[in-house]
Amino acid sequence: MREDLIISNVISALKSVLKHDENKPIALSQPWFNGNEWKYVKSCIDEGWVSSSGEYVDRFEANLAEFTGVKHAVAVVNGTAALHISLLLSGVKQGDEVLIPALTFVAGANAICYLKAVPHFIDSDDKSLGVDANKLCSYLKDTAYMKGNVCYNKKTQRPIRAVIAVHTFGHPADLDALLEVCRKFNLELIEDCAQGLGSYYKNIHVGNFGKVSAFSFNGNKIITTGGGGAVVTNSLEVAKIAKHITKTAKIPHPWFFIHDSIGYNYRMPNINAALGCAQLENIEKFLKNKRALAKKYQEAFENLEGVSFFKEPEYAKSNYWLNTIILNEEYSFIRDLLLVKTNSQKIGTRPPWMLLNKLPMFRDCPSMDLKTSEYLEKSIINIPSSTFLGEGYVKE
Ligand SMILES: *Cc1c(COP(=O)(O)O)cnc(C)c1O
Repeated sequence: MREDLIISNVISALKSVLKHDENKPIALSQPWFNGNEWKYVKSCIDEGWVSSSGEYVDRFEANLAEFTGVKHAVAVVNGTAALHISLLLSGVKQGDEVLIPALTFVAGANAICYLKAVPHFIDSDDKSLGVDANKLCSYLKDTAYMKGNVCYNKKTQRPIRAVIAVHTFGHPADLDALLEVCRKFNLELIEDCAQGLGSYYKNIHVGNFGKVSAFSFNGNKIITTGGGGAVVTNSLEVAKIAKHITKTAKIPHPWFFIHDSIGYNYRMPNINAALGCAQLENIEKFLKNKRALAKKYQEAFENLEGVSFFKEPEYAKSNYWLNTIILNEEYSFIRDLLLVKTNSQKIGTRPPWMLLNKLPMFRDCPSMDLKTSEYLEKSIINIPSSTFLGEGYVKE
């Protein structure tokens, strides 16, 4: 049968790239520590600076700003916290709606809810796997109206304040098109760059387009700090507030504890930042390996029937954080069998997230028609993408 052939072709393509040996499981995405990680972490312990102060946090922030070209970076405990602060500093308030793709990790929608605002789900396109800006524009023309400078949802009468753009699997969303929609409807753009470190939109690093953007350094991301994240912005004023409120809004003083607003205990600990400093020293190598692996996959999947390897959009240079294959619509029914077969042979593959509008806590949230997201949800398979695989190196 045709579908059996597709399954066996996919598995051979994966094995040819991964030089797979069944005794060694291949994870979907694992961190790689082969630089100064141990040395820097050890120095935190030796010197006693493991927590919320210490030189590595400042250094990590400076290095991250330099690498991304964003003027200011504020390191926090994780990407979800970074999104929470980004939304707060974008002016999102209780009762607002925030547009967010249905096809993404749950963190952004949760962060919207932390502010008692409401996620409003939008569709993605199959060129970028990010927000479909054209579709969003015509949707808002029908569904929203402007009063003063504020965009309102006709149905709910709630203000629509912002849009979160996600750089899915490391592929930049079409930011120019999205910024155009934001200008038209006076929406704040927030970039969820959790998966996008080392990805460029028209030669500019992601995170430079929204007023505030969020990164994650969880264990499965391009670089890791164990757990960690960052709020980045080109505005000094925003950066100052971000730093202040993520350090409990404490007024600096050697012994007095005075706080001047509601704050968050979100500062990245020094010991995590130490790991991050070491990881950032290797980022160019990581990215080179990621792209080398993607190229091998691209060649292996070229001309296979029923399935294609997802390539970066033409305007972008992607980090290829998670390599992705997509089944043609008529074969999406074999997706689950492929997941079972690959994982039982210890090749780590996984489906994308369940669309957020289907999760119980978001079921009643507003949503546009999600045709493309529905297709992508059932047709995408992420395939092994650990950085070291790009060197043909299989970890013990
Ligand atoms: C990982 C991730 C986050 C959240 O980051 P954490 O550090 O795990 O809190 C947010 N958004 C996206 C798209 C992610 O992939």
